[in-house]
Amino acid sequence: MTQIFDNPADFADEALDGFVAANRGYVARVDGGVVRSTEVPAGQVALVVGGGSGHYPAFAGLVGPGLATASACGNMFASPAAGQVYRVAKAANAGGGVLLSYGNYAGDVLHFGQAQLRLNAEGIETRTVLVTDDIASAPLDQIEKRRGIAGDLTVFKIAGAAAEAGLKLDDVERLAIRTNYRTRSLGVAFDGCTLPGADAPLFTVPAGHMSLGLGIHGEPGISDHPMPTASELADLLVSKLLADKPDDAGTRVVPIVNGLGTVKYDELFLLYGKIEKLLTAAGLTVVEPECGELVTSLDMSGLSLTLLWLDEELEQYWAAPADTPAFRKGNLEPRARRELAGPEAEEAADVERPTPAAAALGRLAAELLGQVRDVVVEHEEELGRLDAIAGDGDHGIGMRRGVDAAVAAARQAAANDGGASVARILTAAGEAWSERAGGTSGALWGSAVIAAGLALGNQDSYSGEDAAAAVTAFTDAITALGKAEPGDKTMVDALLPFQDSFLTAFGGGATVAGSLVAAAAAATDAAGRTAELRPLKGRARPLAEKSLGHPDPGAVSFALIATRISAHISPTGTWLANPEPAEQGAQA
Ligand code: ADP
Ligand code: MG
Repeated sequence: MTQIFDNPADFADEALDGFVAANRGYVARVDGGVVRSTEVPAGQVALVVGGGSGHYPAFAGLVGPGLATASACGNMFASPAAGQVYRVAKAANAGGGVLLSYGNYAGDVLHFGQAQLRLNAEGIETRTVLVTDDIASAPLDQIEKRRGIAGDLTVFKIAGAAAEAGLKLDDVERLAIRTNYRTRSLGVAFDGCTLPGADAPLFTVPAGHMSLGLGIHGEPGISDHPMPTASELADLLVSKLLADKPDDAGTRVVPIVNGLGTVKYDELFLLYGKIEKLLTAAGLTVVEPECGELVTSLDMSGLSLTLLWLDEELEQYWAAPADTPAFRKGNLEPRARRELAGPEAEEAADVERPTPAAAALGRLAAELLGQVRDVVVEHEEELGRLDAIAGDGDHGIGMRRGVDAAVAAARQAAANDGGASVARILTAAGEAWSERAGGTSGALWGSAVIAAGLALGNQDSYSGEDAAAAVTAFTDAITALGKAEPGDKTMVDALLPFQDSFLTAFGGGATVAGSLVAAAAAATDAAGRTAELRPLKGRARPLAEKSLGHPDPGAVSFALIATRISAHISPTGTWLANPEPAEQGAQA
């Protein structure tokens, strides 16, 4: 149980504030995360790591000389938003460019990727190296699909040491890629973890069993096994990793035994002793091992073994000193404190002067968002349960956080002197959604709401064609950003039938309200049919079999929202204030 908090919604923020207070000699708080509080030599490559909170010492605990320059810190198990990553990277940049490195999760890839585009566009050269060490999450020939777990540490450590040594961005990137390629991990869980405020763990392991191949966000393991002895467990982990070793692996390895939250150090050491013997018996030389908590998953009972196969160059940087709140090695000269500029002045809001008619439409758009929130709140628990089957159980909470923030931002924009247009309402709402929700669905919903808003623009009235353009812009934003194909088992499997059905009905002469009713029915039907699919994208992919027979959470939430909007609009036949004749024989 995670039980020390006032309000579970503030858990990640307040924990980060306290962490900074306890480690001011190392880190300073910036909007979106933490950055080193000591001087960074001019021209040094900035290594910016990050991800969701709940994994300490990853990621904020690894910020300091010889390791990361800064960490973008998302909500519990949820990616930081693109804006947060961008602001943290700006604060970290010392003129040598930025390397973004993080575990391979869809939400993080979307948000860090958007931040990278923005940084590069501003002339801050930015690269990305994803960590993909978890051998349980995809076969070796699809190594780029693997998720990142405790192998984060080897990649960050070697990239950070290379940056500290003054290497240029090209070389730091090259070493990070090579380290990732030569790192393998496998984890086991004895019990699941519980998000602050939740009354049940994200998964449980049957008594007397362990789950092999778990994720670090409460994704359950790939398979359950009777609880082994320590010797059997050591043998299982070592043999599976050795069978997956990289080409020209060599004989020098770094083993990392990582506790995931509640396994005692004594138990980790006991296991480590056995692992080291097995590695030596296999003809390997163990170099500077680690044994302790390095990447955790709240109060998860579990552990993982990571192996990094060294070469001469990697060994030099693995052995180099580092000094961070949670990871210290060797000696480094003390660093002077640095002055951090305060948060940049908010970009002056560009003045928009909507006409009273446009502002009235803006208020209607805010009201529609209120409907979206109501339906998300009603189904929050159900969506969380669906996501816990093969994902990380946060879809309900994430949608709730996103839509709450979106509605608040929309209302604030509408309360501006003179009100706000539909475009302004929806862009403010979409930005807030993406920023607060984190996660894959937050990034997708946020950018889709923004895209719909930009398509609708600042107008005094809207036609049916405008509605069709908004539906298309919404759909395109999600497929362009998420790159999911039909059949991958994502929200796209409900969204494309929604769009098709809307455009067909509308093209056939139906009203906007009637077309929406038909489209929502098509989305609901298609969301139900995702139960037959195996997930090919997102966090549920490694657990494809468990997901069979259950619909995709993102498809279900989309269908619920589409249904609520159509039900809200159809009784009056009115959408965004353009009265339409009541539907004759709507094709629902
Ligand atoms: P996370 O996966 O980061 O925990 P959520 O749990 O909020 O985020 O959302 C999960 C949903 O996101 C999935 O059910 C799926 O519908 C959707 N999703 C995941 N990846 C993609 C993608 N690439 N394109 C479209 N939708 C996706
Ligand atoms: Mg999820």
